[in-house]
Amino acid sequence: MTPTEIKKMKNRNKEFYKDEMVEGEDYVICPLCSIRMSMIKSTHITNRHKMPLADFDLSYPNTQKICKNRVINIKNGLAKTDENGLTKHQISVAKAQVTKNAIGEDGLSIHQKIGIKTRNTHLRNKDENGLNGYQRIAKVARPKQIKTMARNGDAIKPEERHQWLCYRNLCIWLTRATRAPLLTDDMILGRAGSTSGNVQVDHEYSVFHGYRDGVSPFDICNIVNLVVLPWEENVKKNRKSSISLDELLQRNNTTMEDSKKEYDLIIKLSAGIPQDNRSSILLYEQFLEESDAEICKKRRL
Ligand SMILES: [Zn+2]
Repeated sequence: MTPTEIKKMKNRNKEFYKDEMVEGEDYVICPLCSIRMSMIKSTHITNRHKMPLADFDLSYPNTQKICKNRVINIKNGLAKTDENGLTKHQISVAKAQVTKNAIGEDGLSIHQKIGIKTRNTHLRNKDENGLNGYQRIAKVARPKQIKTMARNGDAIKPEERHQWLCYRNLCIWLTRATRAPLLTDDMILGRAGSTSGNVQVDHEYSVFHGYRDGVSPFDICNIVNLVVLPWEENVKKNRKSSISLDELLQRNNTTMEDSKKEYDLIIKLSAGIPQDNRSSILLYEQFLEESDAEICKKRRL
């Protein structure tokens, strides 16, 4: 792309350069021209950059191609902004809080990503070759920083991403089955950012800690570990746990050894789950198949 084309496109996308815009949520960055956009379309790669899609995916394997808000908008159709009597500003503030605390697929919250991004910006400013500097940071510095966080137990290691997502998805799926008795008729389940007072089901010992500590998803998703919270409170809690691991095991009437056995089997089986369709039903059924009669009886939904 010529400098003029880049300038034009940046101007067209200027809404993504406002202060409150969050990378990954409101926009993504094309690693080739570093322009912010809601989605890196395949035509952008092939027409603007004259690069075959396969080459792009090889060179930038971990690039997020579509921002989360665009995914949400596509899913929901046009957002119903005023049904709660909130101003657009109030909604965007609430959303920003939500999205910044939400954990992404790499196990990092937006807060943590902003930290990484800030450091990256400093690095980038020192570099004299704009584009190259960005590309080097995106390809080298960021994975390194994520690795450091992974070492510190704050994030999922990149090489564990698949098994973490299998674990997390299975937990979400199991919880849908186990939460029912907690929900009464007057409660409305709602996503973060929905009507105030809508509720979510929270894992007191968090899914993230469960994965990190080798706890069986069945113990994490047992009703004894679930509590109903207004979504606003759940967002504040983020991935923190409100009970100890000992308390969780006690409530489940199990031992770390038994829990870890199930965890290890889930992790082993997740290697056979396709990356493009992390089917929780498949994982669940394979788990039952590989388990002894006693565990099957205990874990069958
Ligand atoms: Zn580009």
